[in-house]
Amino acid sequence: MTKMKLGVSMDFSAAHFLPQHPGKCKDLHGHTYKVEIVVVGEQKGSTGCVADFAEVKAHVGAVLELVDHKFLNEILETPSSENIALFLKQQLEKKLEQSDLGVSLYSIKLWEGRDKWVMIELS
Ligand SMILES: [Zn+2]
Repeated sequence: MTKMKLGVSMDFSAAHFLPQHPGKCKDLHGHTYKVEIVVVGEQKGSTGCVADFAEVKAHVGAVLELVDHKFLNEILETPSSENIALFLKQQLEKKLEQSDLGVSLYSIKLWEGRDKWVMIELS
């Protein structure tokens, strides 16, 4: 079976400040973040699908519940985009392992606003 990648994207909003930042990010402010998740797996059975997009989104949504409309400094000591992406990656890897979706995380890209992002690729 051919391995294929599936992607979903979802938004969340949250507040944070970066205590060690030399510029204005040290003050309390908020963002709408976009998360793009890519998972990888094989087509299964007669459905022709690797995984149901809705089920993948449900798992991503469950993880985003942890950060949506939250004050991120209460979750992470330094809630930089990099650290938020790492946190979401860890949570999502755990969720996917526990699920019966049969896919694994390939990459996570976290957009902070419209023009800035960080990406973690898993090998
Ligand atoms: Zn910020």
